[in-house]
Amino acid sequence: MNNFLLKSYLKCKRKAWLDFKGDKKLKNWSAQNSIQNFVEFKTFEEYTENSLFSGLKGCKDGYKGVLGIKIHSNLKQDLESVIIPSILIKEKGESIWGKYKYIPAVSKLGNRTAKEHLFDLALSSIALEKFQNSSVCHGLVLKRYKNHIKAEKIFLKDKLKDKAINIFFELKNSLNQNIPEITDNRKKCSICSWQKYCDNEAKSKGYLTDIDGIGLNTSIFLKKLGIKNFNQLASFNKKVLDQKLLNNQENNIPKYLKFIDQSNSYISGRAISLPNRDQHLKIFFENHPGFLIFDIESNPDENHDFLYGLLSIRNIWQNSTNDIYEPILDLNNEKKKISESEILKKLKLKNDWPIIHYGDTEKIAIIKLARKANYIESEIEILKSRFIDLHLIVRKSWILPLKNYSLKTVANWVGFNWEQKNVSGSKALFWWLQYQNNQTNIFLEKIIKYNKDDCLATLHIARWLLNNSGD
Ligand code: SF4
Repeated sequence: MNNFLLKSYLKCKRKAWLDFKGDKKLKNWSAQNSIQNFVEFKTFEEYTENSLFSGLKGCKDGYKGVLGIKIHSNLKQDLESVIIPSILIKEKGESIWGKYKYIPAVSKLGNRTAKEHLFDLALSSIALEKFQNSSVCHGLVLKRYKNHIKAEKIFLKDKLKDKAINIFFELKNSLNQNIPEITDNRKKCSICSWQKYCDNEAKSKGYLTDIDGIGLNTSIFLKKLGIKNFNQLASFNKKVLDQKLLNNQENNIPKYLKFIDQSNSYISGRAISLPNRDQHLKIFFENHPGFLIFDIESNPDENHDFLYGLLSIRNIWQNSTNDIYEPILDLNNEKKKISESEILKKLKLKNDWPIIHYGDTEKIAIIKLARKANYIESEIEILKSRFIDLHLIVRKSWILPLKNYSLKTVANWVGFNWEQKNVSGSKALFWWLQYQNNQTNIFLEKIIKYNKDDCLATLHIARWLLNNSGD
C-alpha cells in the first residue's frame, strides 16, 4: 500500500481499489495522467534548476531535488506502507546526510491546493523524518504557470498528520473489502483510466447518472422519490412523477419529465425529435455567401488558446473544391497584446459569413479578444450575432440515445470518425506540451489534423440536423 493509492482513494474509493486489485488490461491510457506527469517533471526540473537526481545517491550527494525515493514506514500499529514522495527538496538543517535535510514537495495542475496534496505531504513528512533522522515541519506545493514556478509553503501540523494516517487506515480497510460502488459524481470519471470499465457496469446496472443531466444531487433526489435506476425512470408515469415532484416542492418539472424521455431514448437506442425543431435551423436556409466552422484548442492551465481552426464552406449541404481549412496558430500567447489578432482579422474578412461552433468556448474566446482589441460595443454585438452554437441546437431539437451531448459523442453517433484514433481535447493538449518541450513539428501536425477533424465533425452534425429536419 502506498501514497499513490491514497491519492486515487481521495478521488474515488473504487479507483483506489481498481488500481490495487483491478485487471490492468481493462485500464486505459489517460491523457490527463500523462499531462500531469509531464507537467510535474517540468515543474521539478525548473524548480531545482536541473539539480535533480534519482534514488538514495541523490540524497547522499546533496542534489537540490531527489526523485524516486521509496520509504518503508510503519505509520501506525499494523499499518505498513511504502511512501514515495513526489520529490524531496534540499533545505538547510541537519540530517544523516550532513548539514542539510530534505522536505517533501508535490506539484499541482490548476489553482486549487486539494486534500490529496496536503495528505501526500503529511505522509511523506512522517516517513521522511525517520528516514533522514530530522524533523520536517513544512512541505511545498509547486505550481508552474507561464514558465514561472510558484511555491506554496504548507505547515505540516500534527493534526494534519493524524488525519492523513486515519485516511490511510480507511484506505487499507477499503482495499480489503469488495469493490466499492461506482461514484455518484460521474464528472470525475471523464478523466479516469477506468472509465470504460465502469461505464459498462453502470449501463448494465441502470445507473441514474448514466442519463444526461442527472448528476449527484439529482440522482439522490430521484432515489428519494423511489426511482433507483434508469429502467424504472423510463417506465415511470409522467403524471405520477409530476405529482411526486410537486409534493417535494420541486418546481422544475419539465427538466424531470425530460429525464424520462432521455432514459427511454438511451434504452431503446432511438432518437426522439422535439417540437418546432426547424425554427433553430432557419439561419441555414437564409442567403449567405458561406459558413465558417470554428474550433479552438487550448491550454486552460496557462489560459492560452494555441490553435484557432477555421473551415470555410461555400455550401452547407455538400462539399465543394472551394472549401478551405486554415489553422491559425498562436504559439506565444499573443492574445495578451492589445492589437487585433490574426483570427479577428480573418473573421472580419468574411463578415457576412455565420460562424458555426460546438459549445460556448469559441464565442466567449472571440468576444474576449474583440474587447481586448478595443472593438466598440456595436461591433461586438454584430460579431456575437454571427455565432451559431450547434450544441445548443442539438439539445433544443433532439433527445439522442447518448450518455452526453459532447462533440465526440454526438458526431460519432451521426457517423463521423476522427482520422486519428482515440483522440480528445486532452490528447491535443498533451501533444501541445510535447511540442512546447521539443519544438517537434510532428506534434503540431497531429494537433492541426485533430482540429480539422473537429471542424469536419461539427459540419457533419450540422448536415445531420438539416437532413433530419421537417417537423
Ligand atoms: S471511472 Fe469513475 S467510478 Fe470508475 S474508478 Fe474512475 S472515477 Fe471511480
